[in-house]
Amino acid sequence: MVDIVLVNTSHPGNIGSAARAMKTMGLSKLVLAYPESPVDGQSYALAAGAGEILDNARVASTLSEALEDSTVIIGASARRRTYERTLLEPQEAGALIVASALEGRKVSLMFGCERTGLTNEELEVCHYHVTIPANPEYSSLNLAMAVQVLTYEIRQAYLKYLGMDPMKEEIVHTSEKYLDKEQPASGDEIIGFHQHLEEVLLLTGFLHENNRGSIMRKIKRIFSRPYLTRDDVNILRGILSSVTRTVGKTNE
Ligand code: SAH
Repeated sequence: MVDIVLVNTSHPGNIGSAARAMKTMGLSKLVLAYPESPVDGQSYALAAGAGEILDNARVASTLSEALEDSTVIIGASARRRTYERTLLEPQEAGALIVASALEGRKVSLMFGCERTGLTNEELEVCHYHVTIPANPEYSSLNLAMAVQVLTYEIRQAYLKYLGMDPMKEEIVHTSEKYLDKEQPASGDEIIGFHQHLEEVLLLTGFLHENNRGSIMRKIKRIFSRPYLTRDDVNILRGILSSVTRTVGKTNE
């Protein structure tokens, strides 16, 4: 299953155009994460024959809620940022998304808001980033057009899979390269872990107000490298709880 997640979108028209782009490429699950304004008449006008995607769109008020159950998270970004994740080409992203969905994983492909794109916090929860290699001097596509380009790549990868041509091998290879077989942790579990870790590191004094942002960014990057499994997160959180208990005792 593939969710197209539009984060903090400001123009309802873009939501409609994105829905239309999705439908032309055979995708239907739209998630609106804290949209600035709700779906309106303009959205429906621009969605044309894809209005049912808007009817069924899921609105999420937090990032955790938007990424619930999703175990492969990819952020589309026009700009390279510090601490970026593995950067995929659109074609590679298409292959990875199809391979993951065929394995029964839920994939979220996230798009940022029109003015500023994905925030650091949103980019930091991703396993991968994907950039459409556009004109370096003017690389920012309209939101719905970026949705069109990347969903087109998903469609191409899927058609190649259906055709069982040599690309099938490429998809399987991509899947083996990036995914392991254990039960992966979902977006909301990873966000929960990040928050727990930050609390404990503030408690121990490893983090303080001056270094909090920059160090947490590096730490989140470490944990985005392998896919954290559910077991991994449980063990890591067990460690954190033991730290909290010990610090509590020594402070008594
Ligand atoms: N002004 C913003 C871009 C916003 S465009 C910025 O500079 O980051 C809205 C969204 O469309 C982006 O957040 C991203 O998800 C997607 N997008 C636009 N151009 C893209 C590109 N070249 N590659 C990948 N995604 C792109």
